[in-house]
Amino acid sequence: MRDDKCIFCKIAAGEIPSATLYEDKDFRVIMDVSPASKGHALILPKEHYANLYELDDELAAKVLVLAKKMITKLKDIVGCDGYNVLQNNGTAAGQTVFHFHMHLIPRYENDNVNIGWEPGSLSDDVKEMVLSGMAE
Ligand code: 5GP
Ligand code: ZN
Repeated sequence: MRDDKCIFCKIAAGEIPSATLYEDKDFRVIMDVSPASKGHALILPKEHYANLYELDDELAAKVLVLAKKMITKLKDIVGCDGYNVLQNNGTAAGQTVFHFHMHLIPRYENDNVNIGWEPGSLSDDVKEMVLSGMAE
């Protein structure tokens, strides 16, 4: 599966050059061209899936194992103090490239990288709505 208009399909296939940190038959791991922090990398499946909802189950399982392997090595290379592993689905969630990818973002003490939210409080209405939906 491939989308000829998709830039990440072309990068994953090696048709557009990228700083590749790792490659196997399923994935290519590249440096983000506009990094949030020093060492920001992206895991791209070689096949085109727009988002996590569409991702093949077997690849979904493999991607977290690969994320673990990558950040375990990269943390020593970049000398970071922490890592955010995150993945956006839909424009509302900040997705800008509609080919599934997982962000590996090294974090450094006081780096001012902005990944966060104001904590709210869980209301009874919302809790009931979600729990009853899950029970259906
Ligand atoms: P999203 O916002 O969709 O979760 O993340 C897309 C990411 O892809 C961004 O961090 C952006 O900097 C990165 N990106 C977009 N186009 C390219 C590209 O052509 N090459 C590389 N290496 N990264 C890209
Ligand atoms: Zn694609």
